[in-house]
Amino acid sequence: MKTILVAGGAGYIGSHMVALLVERGYDVVVADNLCTGHWQAVKGAQLRVGDVRDGAFLDRLFSEFPIDGVINFAAFSLVGESVADPLKYYGNNVAGAVSMLTAMKNHKVDKIVFSSTAATYGEPEKQPIEETDRTEPTNPYGATKLAIEGMLKWCDGAYGIRYAALRYFNAAGANTDVDIGEDHSPETHLIPIVLQAALGKRPHVGIFGEDYPTADGTCVRDYIHVRDLAQAHLLALEYLDRGGESGSFNLGSGDGFSVKEIIDTARKVTGKPIPAVVEPRRAGDPSVLIASNQKAREVLGWVPQRGLTEIIADAWTWHQGHPEGYGR
Ligand code: UDP
Repeated sequence: MKTILVAGGAGYIGSHMVALLVERGYDVVVADNLCTGHWQAVKGAQLRVGDVRDGAFLDRLFSEFPIDGVINFAAFSLVGESVADPLKYYGNNVAGAVSMLTAMKNHKVDKIVFSSTAATYGEPEKQPIEETDRTEPTNPYGATKLAIEGMLKWCDGAYGIRYAALRYFNAAGANTDVDIGEDHSPETHLIPIVLQAALGKRPHVGIFGEDYPTADGTCVRDYIHVRDLAQAHLLALEYLDRGGESGSFNLGSGDGFSVKEIIDTARKVTGKPIPAVVEPRRAGDPSVLIASNQKAREVLGWVPQRGLTEIIADAWTWHQGHPEGYGR
């Protein structure tokens, strides 16, 4: 297995995947339409600008390169936007996956690692969340990812395309070795927002609700270093290459931190005061989301290496070096 197609490889998690594959000696082809990705984030790989919904574009890629496996990150991922415009999400995420699987079937590529999400669970029935727990998404973003997981299962049965659907919890951090990091516009995620406040680019951080049934009243999430996430994808690809059985896997640390704990840790890491203001709850936020990562540990041999302080420290290095992100 030598040549890997990374769709969405110019995005935040995708570009960290590319960096790891390149470091490990893989040949990497990136397909990205650059609607949210950054060409500057693609280092050491071929970048082909195009849309995964464009079957002719994918046919050309699969004909040009001896692609052994696919890692698909290409998708929209804003929960609030998905509620306001579900067809945008079905039209891109689901149609993009149909197009990719069709090209894989036609070109006889039989392994895919697919970006899924903890949002497939909706309001969890228990903590930590296991893969076998109820999946009832509370927004169209999670629903599109769950729909694609279903499609993957049927495609395995019909065409023998094996898959690992990786359900991400809260990705954060950066790769300071190759100088890539998180740059979303607009930024909605907590850790980059906290660090933008540390840089003085925002007057304060809004804490979305202080009346949740948690120890300090703020939401608890499971933060995982983006480099550990990338490592899990590589292990999943190798697992499929060994003939491993298809399935879904949680990717989280197994630990939870509240919004206030994140802000406090960021104050320690940055040495900045980081003003915070309590604001109303954000619609659709479950109070606690913590992964059981036992399945990924046992089946893939994944062991996350980096804790919260390292996540925030690496993100801080990136934000300090790139206060405007990759530049517009
Ligand atoms: N959050 C917050 N202020 C912000 C952004 C996020 O209080 O400016 C909270 C959000 O309500 C959630 C947690 O931080 O409880 C993580 O949110 P994020 O959007 O980073 O990830 P999510 O868990 O929604 O995928």
